[in-house]
Formats: sequence, structure tokens, C-alpha cells
Amino acid sequence: MRTANTTTTAQPAGPRSVVAYVAALFALAAGLQAVSVLWNNTHPVHDVAWAVLPPLVALLVAAEYFQIRFQYRDDVMALNLFDAVLAPLIVVFPPAVVIGTVALAQAIGAGVRRNQPVKALFNIAQWAVAAGIGSLLYRGVGGDAQPSTAGLAALVLALSAMALSNTVTFAVVIRLAQHQPVRKVAASLAPSILVSWVINTPFAILFVTALHSSQATVVVFAVPLFVLNWASRGYAAARADRARIGGLQQATHVLAQPVDPRDAIGPFVAEVRECFEAECAELVLLAPEGHEIHRADADGIRVVYGPHPLGAALIHAGRAVRLTTTDPASPLAHVLEQAGWRDAAAAPIRSGQRLIGVLCTYNRGGLEGFEEGELAVLEALANEVAGAMYKAELLATILEERRKLGEIVDNTSDGIFTLDPAGVVESWNAAVEQLTGYPAAEMIGTSHLGVLRPRNAAGDDVLFERWADEDAELPTDVQVLTSSGELRWLSCSYTRVPAGDDRPPLLVVVGRDVTKVRELERLKEEFVATVSHELRTPLTPIKGFATTLLEGGDRMSIETRRTAIESILRSAQRLERLILNLLEVSWIESRVVDVRNTSVEVCELAQRVVREFRDAWGEREIRLDLPPGLCHALGSELWIEQILSNLLSNALKYATGTDPVDVVLRQDGDAVELAVVDHGPGIPAEEASRVFERFERLDRTNRQAGTGLGLYIARELAHAMNGTLTLSDTPGHGATFSLRLRPSPSTSHPHTASLV
Ligand code: ADP
Repeated sequence: MRTANTTTTAQPAGPRSVVAYVAALFALAAGLQAVSVLWNNTHPVHDVAWAVLPPLVALLVAAEYFQIRFQYRDDVMALNLFDAVLAPLIVVFPPAVVIGTVALAQAIGAGVRRNQPVKALFNIAQWAVAAGIGSLLYRGVGGDAQPSTAGLAALVLALSAMALSNTVTFAVVIRLAQHQPVRKVAASLAPSILVSWVINTPFAILFVTALHSSQATVVVFAVPLFVLNWASRGYAAARADRARIGGLQQATHVLAQPVDPRDAIGPFVAEVRECFEAECAELVLLAPEGHEIHRADADGIRVVYGPHPLGAALIHAGRAVRLTTTDPASPLAHVLEQAGWRDAAAAPIRSGQRLIGVLCTYNRGGLEGFEEGELAVLEALANEVAGAMYKAELLATILEERRKLGEIVDNTSDGIFTLDPAGVVESWNAAVEQLTGYPAAEMIGTSHLGVLRPRNAAGDDVLFERWADEDAELPTDVQVLTSSGELRWLSCSYTRVPAGDDRPPLLVVVGRDVTKVRELERLKEEFVATVSHELRTPLTPIKGFATTLLEGGDRMSIETRRTAIESILRSAQRLERLILNLLEVSWIESRVVDVRNTSVEVCELAQRVVREFRDAWGEREIRLDLPPGLCHALGSELWIEQILSNLLSNALKYATGTDPVDVVLRQDGDAVELAVVDHGPGIPAEEASRVFERFERLDRTNRQAGTGLGLYIARELAHAMNGTLTLSDTPGHGATFSLRLRPSPSTSHPHTASLV
């Protein structure tokens, strides 16, 4: 009997203690042999059937060779019928012959199987000792060569003693080689020893009984050996196939589970390892720099990146292969050895015609010798993983497209949302979040569009949620109420997406914020009405007074004539300013203003403008406060004139009382400042920036004619000259507008200020 655990095969080849132990066993065997020889002298065995010795030796070698393998829990056990074949020897031959024959058969068996020398010697000594104990015991308890029940009992006893002897010697060698406690080793060996004993003992009885009836029966002893070996191979092949096919199914299942098969690669490789009972399984994929290696071994699953020479060689091979380090014909054997493996099976992974990786298993365990179907299973697994990789690539492409689309939708300035036929919001992009102030999380999955109070231009409710109704009409212009209570106008377009596979129809609403555009439109309409009115208004006094002067001017007093002429002049100035402003607006709007930065003498300019205004506004006091000497600024003479005219005309127009209006010119090192100061109603601080906008006018000054363009133009022109126009309060009350310009180098330095 021999037990072996092929997944934890004992390697009694190492330490010196093992060698010493084997030597001790040999000494014991020699001692037993000496006892046997002595015993034989006193108890000679008669009628020895020497003719059966050669066939029994042959059967012993065959019994050693034909293993019966079986699964015990997670281990694969192997046993043979050596003990059964040994039984006839013990019965027929004297102990000395038995010991020698067993040692010879073991030596031949070791030679045939090319066992390591220490292992071979151990087996020879182990069996010589067991055979010595068994046959001496048999003879000692009265067993002899004749058939008898007592002889059979003695045989059973002898076989049991041999099993015990083998267990002890084997446990000790494993203890020495692997440093495991004898008790633990013996416990792990016990099941297979028991099974071996249970199988060998009946066969031993059968063989002995048969031999008693006829020596010729020794020939048929080979039959049970062959049959058992054959059955064991069949069982092992079926078991291996079942394990591989089961593993294939399990691994495929693992791969199919997650949406992205890449997530399952680790567990898949672990399944492959399990399926092949291998020490390690790897999926090696070609990566931009080196290899992407998914590895499953006793430490678990992990991904590593880097070079993989064995993987590269196996990918290069381009076909399913099986390798062992002992195969001298294989060019990959040394690469395998360098990688530290004993054997490997590998199948390539293809994407179309392209090789993209390899699926490998290393140091395969389990029953040996049933590898035929294995490569086919590994290839099937490699195809599965190739399919999964292809699916993963497709998925990545789809996700990338979706991401791009999502980014476009999220980054567009147009608000986009979608509704299902029941009016439930299915999507709500970032722009619509911003437009309405309602976040996506609050809107998606609800039909709360009513919070927006959508209205059409006529003020009627717009029912987005009823879009699927046949008579539903959705207007282009929709007014909505934002979460902060602001009213906004959206210009909406609608796309009805018909139902698709498993998807109901959809309404896509794209809304653009046109609040400002609409406001501007309104202001422009007002402006056109104002301008036409403004253009006509000054003409009435001009025509009226001109006619009066023409017809009865001679009869008028100088005073009345002057008033008439002043009125004509004022109206003409107003007309001129209006026309100039309109022209400047179109220039500013089309951005064709060129910066005319010449040196302008502002004192003279201010005097001229003020004079014109004094002429036209004889009853109003306009004071001019100038610095002494000349005062040069950088800019355009026409523009400065226009700014001053706009400011002066506003001061006279809006500060309606009798308070004087001051024009103050100052210069310092940094700037030339021209200020127009009035003592009228002034401009509240919160309106200060608004009055510089296009078409903006304060409500309370609506009675005075105006277009809302004067200050806008003045500031734009000031900026065009790299200057500023600011508004501040006049101490007491009133408004002060200050134009600051860059001084020109020819500016004379101020002494004292002078009032003109
Ligand atoms: P317009 O005078 O044609 O209305 P402007 O752009 O010159 O347009 O002025 C814009 C608004 O600013 C005026 O309608 C008026 O309400 C206010 N405003 C301008 N200047 C003064 C001022 N000196 N005092 C009070 N309000 C003024």
C-alpha cells in the first residue's frame, strides 16, 4: 500500500535528516532480513512454488505503476494494489525472499518512473521494512503456505501491520522534510490508508485463495489491476471534464453579470484559477506601456501593470499552448522557468484578427494526465473574455458619446428640459437650472412645472404638462417666474420625439432667455416714438418765432425780438444736439469710433460752449470757473464739446429753479477735470449707474423731453478718449457730473483759479 497526496506530494529529498532516516530504515530492513534468515533456518518453508515468483515480481511493478486516484474532500488521493499483490508472496515465500523481492520490485518501479534517488531509496527501505514486519508476523502467528482460515486471519493481521508500518515511516519522513507534526501528518494520511486497506485486503484474500486453488491463476491477477486503473482514469477524466465545464459556465456567468464586463475581469480570472485547480491564473492584456495583468492566486485578485515576458511570448505564440519546464523541445520552457512556474496552459485573446492578450493558468493541480479537453476549455474561456472586452469597448464608446452629449446639453446656454407624456420632468439641464433657479434634483421625476407659472404673451397659462393632448398649443414666447420671484421671458422651441423601443414619446423644450432682448425691443420702440417727437418739438418754436419775426419783427421791442431769437437758437441747439447724439450712437454701436486723441485747449472750448448756452438760455445764470492760463487735455474737441453740451443741457433742463449752473474746469498733474454742477433734484445713489445706460430715464423727470441717450453717449465718448465721466451729489442738493481727461503735455501749470 502506498498513499500519496498529489496536491501536497512529499518530497523526501531535502535535508540531511531525511537521508539519515532513510539509512536508518535500510538498517532496520537489514536487521529484519537477518532475523528472517535466522528464522528460516529454524522454520524452513516447504514446497515453495518458485514458478510464481517472476510473475509476482512483474505484478508488483505493475501494481506500483497502476494508480487508482480518487477525490477525498479537497484533495486527490492515490492508492494502488501493491499490498494485495504482496499477499500471495507473504503466504507462499519465506520472509527473507519476501523482503528481497519487495525491495527489487520497488527498485524497478522507481527506475521506470525515474524517481529522485532519495525518494526511490526511501520507498525501497520503507517497503522492505513493511514487508519484513508483515511476513515475519504472518509466520509468527502461525500462517503458512497451506490454505486455512487461520492463515487468512494471519494474513489480514500482517496486512494491517504493514499499513501501520507504512503510515509511521511515511509520517516521519514528511515530518522531517516538511517540519509538520507527525500526529497531524498521520491524521491527514489516515483516510487514504483506511480506503487502501479496505480495497487491498479483499483483493489479497482473493489472490491468495486463487493461488491456493491453482498457481496458474497468477496470470489473471493482472486483470483487476488493469480494470481498476482504467476505471480510475475514466473517473478522473469525467471529473476533470465536469470541473472544467462547470468552471467554464461559472466563469462565463461571472463575466455576464455587471453592466461593464471590465468590472468582472478579476472575479473571472479567479474562476479560471479555480476551474483549472491552478496555483495562479492571469489575464495579460497588451497595454500602451507594457502589459495590464489581472492576476488571481492564493493572495486574492489584483491588477498590476508592467512588462510580462512570459505573457508577451505566449501572446506571440498566437495559439493555445501547454508548457512544462521539463519539456526540452519547447522554446518557451526556459521563459516559464524564469517566471518561476512548473507548468502553464495559455490561450490567446483576439479582437477581430488582432491579438490583444492571453489567458494563462500556472502550476495546474488536480488529477494529472487528463489535459486533452483542457486547452479547448481554456480557449473557450479566452473567447468569452475577448467577447466581454469587445462589449466593454462598445460600452466605453457609448458612455463617451453620452458624456459628450451630456456635456453639450449641460454647457449650452439654452435651457433644455424633457417631459414624458404625463408631464413628468425627465431631464433638466444646468442652463434651465440657472434660468429658473430650480435645481434638477427638485424638478426631475416631478410634474411641478406649475411653479414656474408659465404664461404666454397674452397672459394666459401655458400647460406644458398637457403637451401630449391633441389640441395642446405651446407658444414660442413664454414668461416664467423664477424661484427668486423674478419674471423672465423664454423663447421656446419644441421637439416631439416619437416613442422608441421600450420608451414613451418625449417632449424636448429648448428655451432661450430673451428677457433682455424683449426689454431692449420695448425701449427701442419707445425710443423711436420719442425721437420722432423730439425731432418735431424744436421745429414748432423755430417755425413759429421765425414767422413772427418775419411778419412783425419791426414792430417788436428789442427785448421781445431777443426772446424770440433766443428761443429759436435754443431749439436749433436742441435739434443739433439730438442729431449729433443720434449720429454718435450709431458710431458707438458699430464700434467705429476712432480715438481722436489730439491736444485740445479746454478753456477756450468751455468758454465757447457756455457762451452758446448763455445766448440760448438768457434767463438762466451759467457760471464758468476756469483755471488761469491755458488748459490742454488729450481727446477730441468735438466729443468734449458734445459731452459738455449734453451735461449743460441736462443741468438746465432738470434743475428747473433759478439756481445758477456752474461749469468748473480744474487741472492737476494727473487729469483735467471739467465739472457741471447744478442745484436741482439730483439723482438718487441707487439710480446713479442706470442713468448712464441706453434709453434709461428717471420716472420723475419724464415730463421733460429727452431720449435717454445723452449720458450714455457722454460716458462712451469719455471712455473712448481714455477718460471717465462720474456722477456725484452737489453739496446741498443737485447733481455734479465730472469729466476727467488725461492732460496734454502742453497744459500750462495752474496758478490761481479765475471766474469768468
Ligand atoms: P435724457 O436727458 O435725454 O432723458 P440723458 O441720458 O441725458 O437722457 O439722461 C438720463 C436721465 O438721467 C434723464 O432722463 C434724467 O432722468 C436723469 N438726469 C440727467 N441729468 C440730470 C440732472 N442734472 N439732474 C437730475 N436728473 C438728471
